[in-house]
Amino acid sequence: MDLVEADEGAVIPVDYKHGAPRENKADGSVELWDADKIQLAVQALVLCDNGYRCDEAVVYYVKTKQRVRLPIDEPTVAWTLDMLRQARDTAVSKRIPPPLVDSPKCPRCSLVGICLPDETTALRLHQPATKVVQQALFEVDDSLQAEPAAAAEDQDVRRLLPARDDLRPLYLNSRGLNVGKSGFVLKVKEKDKVVQEVRINEIS
Ligand code: SF4
Repeated sequence: MDLVEADEGAVIPVDYKHGAPRENKADGSVELWDADKIQLAVQALVLCDNGYRCDEAVVYYVKTKQRVRLPIDEPTVAWTLDMLRQARDTAVSKRIPPPLVDSPKCPRCSLVGICLPDETTALRLHQPATKVVQQALFEVDDSLQAEPAAAAEDQDVRRLLPARDDLRPLYLNSRGLNVGKSGFVLKVKEKDKVVQEVRINEIS
């Protein structure tokens, strides 16, 4: 948590975001993005679980210098718990969620080289007879791959990656790993045991 304000027995988690809040086009009001909303709601639930009273949370958007409030009421809690349930269901089912379609998030996403969102969507769209298997981050039954979101027929494949990049990112996706350096080699260790060695000049 960035900050917790306390006032007469009640606490308010406050989070700072670089960007701007979502603007409601209909009436010009501002509201939280869903990702910010769930983050703050979960912080509030953690505080409540630890005995604090928390009736609201706040996101401060630096770009527009606005504090946007989130009431921690029954609808917010129910929505948050439903999102958590869906996230757990997704993890347990091992279904890989389909890539986003034409999302502005993709160009800056660290997983874009693995996810290949536009390429995957285009292949599914233009070669429906071909089974398009999205690369997986873990062992998964290909038949469990989720259907893609709807995409326009003429949607461009954005050039989000160099046509050929000989260097690859190194992802550590298990808890408890640490990395040491020996000469020009990175040694990935679990406790004191080396589980992988990677040459530094082969990673981006
Ligand atoms: S690249 Fe893939 S994982 Fe990243 S934001 Fe786009 S769809 Fe999501």
